[in-house]
Order: sequence, then C-alpha cells, then structure tokens
Amino acid sequence: MAKIFCIANQKGGVGKTTTTVNMAAGLAMVGQRVLMVDLDPQGNATMGSGVDKRQMSLSIYDVLLGGADIAQARVASYWGEDPIRQKIPTYDVLGANRDLAGAEIELVEIEHRENRLRHALAKVDADYDFVLIDCPPSLSLLTLNGLCAAHGVVVPMQCEYFALEGLTDLVNTIKQVHANLNRDLKIIGLLRVMFDPRITLQQQVSDQLKDHFGDKVFNTIIPRNVRLAEAPSYGLPGVVFDPSAKGSQSFIEFAQEMIKRVPGA
Ligand code: ATP
Ligand code: MG
Repeated sequence: MAKIFCIANQKGGVGKTTTTVNMAAGLAMVGQRVLMVDLDPQGNATMGSGVDKRQMSLSIYDVLLGGADIAQARVASYWGEDPIRQKIPTYDVLGANRDLAGAEIELVEIEHRENRLRHALAKVDADYDFVLIDCPPSLSLLTLNGLCAAHGVVVPMQCEYFALEGLTDLVNTIKQVHANLNRDLKIIGLLRVMFDPRITLQQQVSDQLKDHFGDKVFNTIIPRNVRLAEAPSYGLPGVVFDPSAKGSQSFIEFAQEMIKRVPGA
C-alpha cells in the first residue's frame, strides 16, 4: 500500500514545494516508486519536476473535476538531455496549472467534494510506495482534498518568530480533519528548512520546537542553500541539479529518515 503524505503549511514561501520535489527525487533515488501530486494552481512543483505546466494534456484539474484517471494524467519527471542526469531515477507527476484555480469554486457544487483526490488515488495505490502531495499556501478545499487523501502531513517550517503561531491553525485543522473526515491522518513530522545555524533566533526557535513537539521534529535539518534555490529555474529538484550540494545531501538524508520512520514503506 502506498504511503500518502501531504506537504502542507498555510504560510506562503516556507519551502513546501522545495521539500516535495526534493523528497520525491530523493525517495526515487533510493529505489522507491513515487507519485508527486501538485495541488497548487501555481504549478511550481510541476515545473520543478521538469514538466511544462502549459503543455500538459491532462492535469489534476481533470482528475478532480473531469473524471479523468490519474493513470491517464500522470507523466514522468524529466531531467533534460544531459546523459548523466538521464540515469537518475524519475518519479511520476500529476501536474497542476492555472486551471486548478477555478476548481475550488466548481468543487463546491459536487458531492463528496473533499474526497475527490482520495478516490482517484485509490485506483493507482498499487503502483507506488509513496505519494507526495504539494499543497497550496492556504487551508482551502484543495488542501482539504489533500488532507482527506493522506495518511500523514509533513510540515516544512522556517525557524522564525511567527512560525509557531501559524502552526496552531494547521494543527487545529489537522485535528478537525482527523476527527470528522479522515481517521488515518496524523502529523508525521515537522521539518526545519532554510536553516541558518549562525542566526541565534533560529537556534532558539528550533530548540522551542524540540521542547514542544519532541520526536515529531525530524532529526534532519535542511540548511539554507543557494543551489536549492537555483534548481527550479532549470526545472530540476536540487538533488538532481547538484547532488553534492549541502542542501541536496540533507534532502537525501531526509528521504532516508522518512523511510525509517514510516514502517512498512
Ligand atoms: P508557496 O507557499 O508559494 O507554495 P512554498 O512553501 O512552496 O511556497 P518554496 O517555493 O519551496 O516555498 O520556497 C520558497 C522560496 O525559497 C523559493 O524561491 C525556493 O527556491 C527558496 N528555498 C526553499 N528552500 C530553500 C533552502 N533550503 N535554501 C535556499 N532557498 C530555499
Ligand atoms: Mg509551493
């Protein structure tokens, strides 16, 4: 059975997409079969996997609203023409683009609107070890579809003063979804990203997180690393763009921590 995880945090620009694509590529590199679902109309995870969001014949929009199957809409991630990169394992992509922005309103009319993704994923469950869902920066009906389909949530966060405040809303939403819609859902862990150990405040917030959430905080820390920020402009995850960069190494370490943490995966 595939393990299905949402990468979620309603705060914008905290590193959700970077985490999703690097985790997907990192898991693929260590031999896992991975589907990456882009649930954000921005389509950043799609583009960051080497898939042109403007050229897709079918996208997650068609899966949520048009009755298309994921088996028809998925494409493989693409690492370009470089023969060395072509040897790097790929993952499957269910892409998103601006069409998805309208889905929110259209979904309101539909019965079981929060379970559309869950039902679609059930049909391809046997094809994957991991399904990773990149959520938009909101607690919207799209994010709710992700939370209803998932076994767990990975929360990337920057160790900044306001980070803890936003976490309360997310934790409450996850609790509500758990109580009312999806008994399987739990927080898998909090991932500290864009970390700069030279900044005392970041160190302090990191310690606070540990005190408060204990072993729900992943051991791996993702440092701030310019190679991770450069990679999307090449349509690549950092771990594919520059596997030796510090940030990439951390994401590969994180993929391994994830496999250890998730029994049966
Ligand atoms: P949104 O809420 O808009 O979907 P997001 O939470 O998905 O944003 P990202 O797009 O992953 O966030 O990251 C925001 C920006 O920070 C991007 O420009 C990304 O390249 C950069 N970034 C992410 N992680 C790192 C890192 N570890 N080091 C340096 N830059 C990073
Ligand atoms: Mg994003």
